[in-house]
Amino acid sequence: MIAVLKPGVTEAQKNNLIKWLKDQGVGVHVSEGQFQTIIGLIGDTSRIDPDLLTGLDIIENVTRISEPFKCANRRFHPLDTVVTVGAGENAVQIGGGHFAIIAGPCSVESEAQIIGVAQRVKASGAKLLRGGAFKPRTSPYDFQGLGLDGLRLLIKAREETGLPIVTEIMSDKYLDEFAEHVDLIQVGARNMQNFELLKELGSLHKPILLKRGLSSTIKEWLMSAEYIMSRGNENIILCERGIRSYDSYTRNVLDLAAVPLVKELSHLPIIVDPSHATGKSRLVPRMSLAAVAAGTDGLIIEVHNDPAHALCDGPQSLTPEQFDALARQIQTLQAAL
Ligand code: PEP
Ligand code: MN
Repeated sequence: MIAVLKPGVTEAQKNNLIKWLKDQGVGVHVSEGQFQTIIGLIGDTSRIDPDLLTGLDIIENVTRISEPFKCANRRFHPLDTVVTVGAGENAVQIGGGHFAIIAGPCSVESEAQIIGVAQRVKASGAKLLRGGAFKPRTSPYDFQGLGLDGLRLLIKAREETGLPIVTEIMSDKYLDEFAEHVDLIQVGARNMQNFELLKELGSLHKPILLKRGLSSTIKEWLMSAEYIMSRGNENIILCERGIRSYDSYTRNVLDLAAVPLVKELSHLPIIVDPSHATGKSRLVPRMSLAAVAAGTDGLIIEVHNDPAHALCDGPQSLTPEQFDALARQIQTLQAAL
């Protein structure tokens, strides 16, 4: 349920209303726009009589929200959310017209590799560095990532380049380390519905990159965002990374319609991962440009210094030279749009 306040309502009147609503046992989400304040009610709103609210002289109108996601709902928060990642002069904004590219290898492999790639992608215009330290591999015999050593190398790469770091959390085991050191905590496709992990992330103040699950509907994906947001962490960036289908020519099927659709449904920023969506490096440039045309707030692209010998996802990784050429094409396209 949302209640739109009349213009000119005082702080005291607003606070009284919020206190009364909380006393009724519902959660309250306040969205202050330039011209209106929207009070969103979360939880069991069956005890709140909409007619009673409508009758209050500070309330313009009351409507029920039929979708199960409330905090993530565009109607709770009509303006685009802008998520700030990192701090100080290297802080990056994503959403609400702010576009950024995240680039880097699938996995951190060595100090020379991660720092070398970080310097190259930064020179080409990437604003954030990606790199997996804890890897969700289909086979237990495949490279599982360098773990905490990988995280230390990412921190070193940030010190060298200033790029904020993005890496995947697989469980709450290292929650404290992630909360302290990682600028944008990635929840991978396989963990999108790890609800206990999502609840833990809801109590952090760090931005979360929430990838779409392997076969998740858009509603399920937004409900996962809701798990995090309803605990108080509203800094979420959604990531469309392709969904599973029957065709095996591509690794996944890139659902580009999700970009404009999610923007209708939600105020959260959404970015696109053309690397995991296609699984083929030669398809990444075209799909990146298509994502930009679809209105994405950013891209996350795998870049490796030597894709043929990468320990993970080499076939979908661009070389630094290919990434540089793509970054230029993206700029040209954006200028033309
Ligand atoms: C990744 O970003 O390296 C990754 C494993 O992605 P996803 O969870 O989308 O498969
Ligand atoms: Mn990967």
